[in-house]
Amino acid sequence: MTATSARITAVDTYDVRFPTSRELDGSDAMNPDPDYSAAYVVLRTDAGDGPEGHGFTFTIGRGNDVQAAAINALRPHVVGRDVAELCADPGSLSRDLIGDSQLRWLGPEKGVMHMAIGAVVNAVWDLAAKREGKPLWQLLAHAEPEWLVSQVDFRYIADALTPEDALRLLREGRTGLAERESILLERGYPGYTTSPGWLGYSDDKLTRLAKQAVADGFTQIKLKVGADLDDDIRRMRTARAAVGDGIRIAIDANQRWNVDEAIEWTKALAEFDPYWIEEPTSPDDVLGHAAVRRAVAPVKVATGEHVQNRIVFKQLLQAGALDILQIDAARVGGVNENLAILLLAAKFGVPVCPHAGGVGLCELVQHLSMFDYLALSGTTENRVIEYVDHLHQHFTEPVVMRDGHYTAPLSPGFSATMREESLAEYRYPDGTFWAADHAGQEDAA
Ligand SMILES: [Mg+2]
Repeated sequence: MTATSARITAVDTYDVRFPTSRELDGSDAMNPDPDYSAAYVVLRTDAGDGPEGHGFTFTIGRGNDVQAAAINALRPHVVGRDVAELCADPGSLSRDLIGDSQLRWLGPEKGVMHMAIGAVVNAVWDLAAKREGKPLWQLLAHAEPEWLVSQVDFRYIADALTPEDALRLLREGRTGLAERESILLERGYPGYTTSPGWLGYSDDKLTRLAKQAVADGFTQIKLKVGADLDDDIRRMRTARAAVGDGIRIAIDANQRWNVDEAIEWTKALAEFDPYWIEEPTSPDDVLGHAAVRRAVAPVKVATGEHVQNRIVFKQLLQAGALDILQIDAARVGGVNENLAILLLAAKFGVPVCPHAGGVGLCELVQHLSMFDYLALSGTTENRVIEYVDHLHQHFTEPVVMRDGHYTAPLSPGFSATMREESLAEYRYPDGTFWAADHAGQEDAA
C-alpha cells in the first residue's frame, strides 16, 4: 500500500422509486400495488477518472427510505478503505459489515440491515469487475477456485458444505469451461417470463402476452396465483390454451397460503400441469415447504426470493423442501453470500432458477447464473432466469434478450449502473417526476 493509492471517499445513497402501481405491473396476491424501487448506492473514489462502484437493493415503495438509511449506517466501514485491497478481497468488507456488533443486533444476517449489506457488497463487486475490465460473470468464472472459496463465509453452513467441498466443486466445475463460455457468448442463458401473468391483468391481456412470450422464444411463462381459486382455474386454463402443451407454466403464490391451503390449491390447478409452485407459504417455514413438496409432487416446489440468508437455504436443502432454488441478487448479503448459496445448491444437486424482475434484478442476477453455468453446475438444463420486461431503460447496460435467452453482458462491471437522467427524474421525493406528481396532488386537493 502506498500513500497515493486510491481510497473510497464517499458512499452516496439514493431513494429511487418508479410509479409502477399505476399500471398494476408487478401485482400479485400479496403485493397488490408495488412501486418498484431501489435503495441505490454509489461508492466514489479519489482514483481520478477511475470507475465508481454501483449497487442497490430492491424494495416496492414505502420503506425504501428506511432501506437507504440502513445503507448509510454502514458508511463508516467503507469510507477510507483502500480501493485495490477492497477489490482484491470483497469478503473482508463483507465480514466486517456482517460482524458490526451493534448493527448485528438488528438481524443477524436478515432483513433491512442484511439487504443494505448486500447493496454495498454488490457495489464493491461492480467496482472490482470494472477495474478488471470484465463483466462480473467472467471475473467470477475465471477466478481461481481457492480465491472463490476465500470469499465464502462458511460459518453456520459447514455442517452441510465445507471449504473442502466447495474447492472440489469449483475445481470440477472448471472442466470444459472454455467450451461453455463460447456457447454462452453465442446463445446466452435461458430465461422465462412473468410478464403475462400479473394478477391485475385481464384474460385478454394474459392471452395476448402469453402468445407473445412464445413468439419471443420463451419456453416457460409464470402466472401469479393465490387470490381467488375460481379465478386461478380460469386464468390457468386460459394460459394453457394460449401456449399449448409444450410450454412450461410455473405458478407463484407469493407466500399467500397456509401449508394445507397450499396443498389443496396446487392440487386444484394440477390438471393444467403447472411446472412449479413458487413461494407456496412463508419463506421461513422450512418444514412447511417440505410438507407441500411431498404432497404436490410431481409439481415442483420453488422458493428463495425472500429467503433471508444461506443458513435458511441450507435447511431447505437439508429438509428436502425444494426442487428449485431461487437466488435473488439483492436479498441476501451480496455476491459473497450468493456464492455460498450456489455452492450449497451444487452440493445438493438442486437447480438454481433465479428470481428477477423488479428494478434491476435481471441486470444483476444474470451474472450469477452465467458464473454458475460456466464454473459450477456446468449446465443450463432445467435452469432459467426470470425475466420481466420493464424498467430496463433506466440502466446504462440493460439486459438484452434474444430468442428467450439473456445474452451475456460484455461491459465491465455488474450491470448495476442507473442512468443519471433516471436518478434525476425518479429520486424520491424530490426528483422531477415525484415533485410534479406531488404538486399535482396538492392542486387537486
Ligand atoms: Mg416470485
